[in-house]
Amino acid sequence: MLGEGILKGLAETAKNFAGSFVSEDRLTTVEYPEQRLLPIENTRDFPFLVYDGEDPEAGLRCVSCQICEKECPPKCIYIVKSTDKKPDYVGKPQFYPARFDIDISVCMSCQICVEVCPFEAIKMDTEFELSTDDRFGGLILDKHKLAKSNEHFQRIHPTEAAEVDARLAEEKEKVEAKAKAAAEAAAAKSAAEAAARKADAGSAGSNAEGVKP
Ligand code: SF4
Ligand code: SF4
Repeated sequence: MLGEGILKGLAETAKNFAGSFVSEDRLTTVEYPEQRLLPIENTRDFPFLVYDGEDPEAGLRCVSCQICEKECPPKCIYIVKSTDKKPDYVGKPQFYPARFDIDISVCMSCQICVEVCPFEAIKMDTEFELSTDDRFGGLILDKHKLAKSNEHFQRIHPTEAAEVDARLAEEKEKVEAKAKAAAEAAAAKSAAEAAARKADAGSAGSNAEGVKP
């Protein structure tokens, strides 16, 4: 019947409108900002920088490789690389961003920076209450505003964060196993060298005893 869909839609709306006075299940809206709905897991708006542990500065995963800066289509990332290094999550000395800014008035939330980052250091946030009356400076987020904990990442994108955690743990295990094997090989080598030196000293001593005055 012509218009059947419209009538069905209007009936549903009327049912929800009347029902919302007697049942909360019929409410299709919430009273924002007092009430908030949790964003769905695939929500994304602007990027943030992930840090591990308690210290946002020491735990920042970003090694300042600047790939995201080069690949960002509207060029809204600005990075200054450090001159010194700090240990990363496996203890390897790495550069870090002395400065890392994102101009979110330009960012188009494409997520390319996330896709190209080889260090799982930049991810998309779900925070949307970012409005400001400062049109320019207020929308440039520096590394202190961008740094958010891995716990935050686990809370907003649990599936992706679990995959990343598992991958990083596996890499860490491999690096530790390699370091352990190298340490054991070095210890075995120095023990063999010490034994060879001892044997040389012993044979030199018995040769000296065998020489007649
Ligand atoms: S989401 Fe896209 S536009 Fe925004 S900083 Fe990343 S690469 Fe640039
Ligand atoms: S966020 Fe990732 S891609 Fe960008 S500079 Fe840091 S480590 Fe490199």
